[in-house]
Amino acid sequence: MNILVPNLGSTSLKYRIVAMPSEEVLTKGHFERVSDYDEVISKVALGEVKVDAVAFKAVHAGPKYQGTFVVDDAVMAAQEEFLGAAPAHNAIYLTGMRAFARALPGVPLVAAFETEYHATMPEYAVRYGVPSDWHDRFGVRRYGFHGASHRFIAERVAELLGVPAEGLRLVSCHLGGSSSMCAVKDGRSIDTSMGFSPQSGLENAARHGDLDVFAVLYVMERNGWTIDEVRRQLSRVSGLAGLSNVPGGDVRDIEKAIAGGSAAARLALDVFVYEIRKYIGAYAVAMGGLDAIAFTGGIGENSPRLRAECCAGLGFLGVELDAAANGNGSGDRLLSAPGSRVKVLAVAANEEIIVARRAYACLQARLTTVG
Ligand code: ADP
Repeated sequence: MNILVPNLGSTSLKYRIVAMPSEEVLTKGHFERVSDYDEVISKVALGEVKVDAVAFKAVHAGPKYQGTFVVDDAVMAAQEEFLGAAPAHNAIYLTGMRAFARALPGVPLVAAFETEYHATMPEYAVRYGVPSDWHDRFGVRRYGFHGASHRFIAERVAELLGVPAEGLRLVSCHLGGSSSMCAVKDGRSIDTSMGFSPQSGLENAARHGDLDVFAVLYVMERNGWTIDEVRRQLSRVSGLAGLSNVPGGDVRDIEKAIAGGSAAARLALDVFVYEIRKYIGAYAVAMGGLDAIAFTGGIGENSPRLRAECCAGLGFLGVELDAAANGNGSGDRLLSAPGSRVKVLAVAANEEIIVARRAYACLQARLTTVG
C-alpha cells in the first residue's frame, strides 16, 4: 500500500510516498511559495507513483478524535469545531484534505492527530482548574501536540540506547519553529508542555508560550482590541520574535543578533532555555527520575549552543554533556560524556514515518472490520 504523507506549511508543501509495510520511501518532493494548493496537490496526487491512501499529520479535533481516523464529514466537522484552538494549523489541514479529496476521488484520506500520543496522560495532568462545564461541554483541557515527533523520539531513543522502552524515563525536546517537550515513561507520554492549543508551554518562533490569561483580558480591555487583533499579535509577533525583536523569531537570526550585541535577542534565548530547563526538572520529578534527554526539531538538531545551555549545571541530575560530541557531528548521536548517568542525544525528526504507520494500521483495522 502506497501512502502519501503531505506536510502542509502555510506557503509550502513537502511530501513523501511510503510503501507500507516495508517503509520504503518511493519518492519525495518539496514545493515552496505555494499560492494555489489545488494546483500543487493535483501535481503531487497524479505523479508517477500510484497513491493508495493519503495520511495527514492532522492537528486538533478535540476529545473525540485523539487518535487516527479515516477522514469523513464528522472528522472534518470536529476540526472546524476546534479551528479557534489551532487556527493556522487546522485551517491548512482542512484546505489540504479538501484539495486531496478533489484530486484523488475514492482514495481514503487518513488523519493521524498530533494529540493521539498524549492520550495516555493521566487525568490529573490533563485537567485545568476551570469550571468542569468548560471541560465537559467544550473540551477545555490539555491535549498536547507534536505527538508523532515525540512518539518517534521515544522509539528511536530506546533503539539507539539498545534498551527496552519499558523502564526508560526520557524527556523529549522538540525544538523548532514550534516547540514542545514531553515526559516519556515506559514509552508513553505522561505529560507534555503544550495544552489546549499549540499556543502554550515553550515560546515558539512567533507564537507565545505559557501566558497568564488575565494579561490578555487586561490588554484587550485597556486598548479595545478585538479578538482577531489579539490573535494576530499572539500568533505572529510573539514568542521568540516578540522577546527578541527579531522578525520571525528564527533562532539562527537570533544567534546572529546576539553576536551583534542585541540584549533583547540574548534575553529571548535566556527565557527559552530557562523554560526548557524548568520542564526537564519538572518531568524528572513526574517520572521519578531521568535516564535520557533527546533533542530534535530544527533547533534541537542544529544548535549546539542551545543544547549546551539547556544542559549546563545539571550534573546534580546526572547530566554531563560531552562538549566535543555536542559541538561537532551530525545525525543521530550520543552527546553525553561517557560517564554521564543520563544519556543526552540528538535525533533527527521523522514524523512522517509515524504518520504512515498509524495510517496503515488504521486502514488495516478497517479492512478487517469491513471483512
Ligand atoms: P517547524 O517546527 O516549523 O517544523 P523545524 O523543526 O524545521 O520547524 O525548525 C525550524 C527552526 O529551526 C528555524 O526557525 C530555526 O529557528 C531553527 N534552526 C534551523 N537550523 C538551525 C541552526 N543551524 N541553528 C539554530 N537554529 C536552527
